[in-house]
Amino acid sequence: MTNDTTIFDKIISKEIPAVIVFEDEFVLGFKDINPQAPIHVLFIPKVRIATLNDVNEGNVDYVAKLHLAAGKYAKEIGEHENGYRVVMNCNANGGQTVFHIHMHFLAGRQLTWPPG
Ligand code: AMP
Repeated sequence: MTNDTTIFDKIISKEIPAVIVFEDEFVLGFKDINPQAPIHVLFIPKVRIATLNDVNEGNVDYVAKLHLAAGKYAKEIGEHENGYRVVMNCNANGGQTVFHIHMHFLAGRQLTWPPG
């Protein structure tokens, strides 16, 4: 199951539409279809890594690139001073539903802690 391609592969290849807000060689950022905050973007690596358990020495740079993209985007939209949250869910207890790692970027409202 976690080795299957996902809808995010189709977003990367532009086979299905998404509202893309960030793109570079390594990362794509697009609006979440079911936003949980006024600004809710998903940053994904352009290679498929199914879960955080599949991050290794060979692909860990992609995780750093997700953080870099999120920070750049926050500055670009002027939310870096107000603040924001990035979240990565892993497997069932983490609430992961799409098995291509993604960083949720949430901004535009006061976020509460702890999350549910
Ligand atoms: P997670 O539950 O952490 O795996 O997050 C998956 C996220 O992908 C959810 O927030 C969904 O709303 C979002 N999502 C699923 N399909 C699409 C899509 N086609 N375009 C944009 N976001 C999507």
